[in-house]
Amino acid sequence: MRDRSRVLSSKQAVSRAAYNLQVSTPKIVLFYVFAPLADPDAIRVWQRDLGEGLGLRGRVLISQHGINGTLGGDLRALKKWARSFRSYDPFKTVDLKWSEGTGLDADGLSVDFPKLSVKVRDEIVSFGAPDELRVDENGVVGGGIHLSPERLHDLVESRDDVVFFDGRNALEAEIGRFRGAVVPDVETTRDFVRLLDSGAYDDLKGKPVVTYCTGGIRCEVLSSLMVSRGFGEVYQLDGGIVRYGEEYGDDGLWEGSLYVFDKRGSVDFSDHAAVVGVCAGCGAATKRTANCPDASCRRQFVVCEQCDAVPCAEHGALSAR
Ligand SMILES: [Zn+2]
Ligand SMILES: [Zn+2]
Repeated sequence: MRDRSRVLSSKQAVSRAAYNLQVSTPKIVLFYVFAPLADPDAIRVWQRDLGEGLGLRGRVLISQHGINGTLGGDLRALKKWARSFRSYDPFKTVDLKWSEGTGLDADGLSVDFPKLSVKVRDEIVSFGAPDELRVDENGVVGGGIHLSPERLHDLVESRDDVVFFDGRNALEAEIGRFRGAVVPDVETTRDFVRLLDSGAYDDLKGKPVVTYCTGGIRCEVLSSLMVSRGFGEVYQLDGGIVRYGEEYGDDGLWEGSLYVFDKRGSVDFSDHAAVVGVCAGCGAATKRTANCPDASCRRQFVVCEQCDAVPCAEHGALSAR
């Protein structure tokens, strides 16, 4: 009797696990819309209530120029979120980029984010130039020409002077980038305006420049800043590296891993992603990144498992003591 009940309960456990496997699918969705929003705070309350009600986690930023977010949760909940999101007219054509989440906890919440954060800011992507950005119902005004991954390949085949311009922070590019890309030495997106104004990239003004970033949002702004500073032929990769990776994986012009701002750290597009990162401690090839060991410091480095962490210049003396 006892054995029989044990058999039954283990069968039940198996079927419950199978049921959970079948119905809970951890996903992460990346999205942005540039559109004039008259009442960002009303959007904030709506998105906060919607996300909380559906058990989503992640980060959403809203400004008078649009919305930008990453949300993680069960696929069914995210699909409900997407239906509601698209029901608001300015958001109806949103391009959602989906990727696999690491998992869901016992409450069904994404383990890739600590909580749900929905905030109103001056900018939905922090270039420190909110007054320069112009947005209408079609998106950013005066930005670079959008290129699909296929059209990007067409451009590269038809021209021999195409320059890839990484629109992310230098650290992100250290573990993955388009082959031969220019990687500006920026620690945060706010450094771009100063760098462009310094004339450091004026030699690119006569060339076709393809800006690219994770999901495309940073290039919406970056490409418009470049156009208004006299870069004559500026493109932006539509859907960013995420969309390119979906289509070409590691068999195109991309090399390495894609850095992501959640607990996953990075994602690969195939089982044969190149490892292009170099450990700051020992020089070994790695795609791992870690913070400066000083708890108050937000600087990050590419650093292998063995070296674990390396201190920044400012905190090096501290940790050597
Ligand atoms: Zn190392
Ligand atoms: Zn530090």
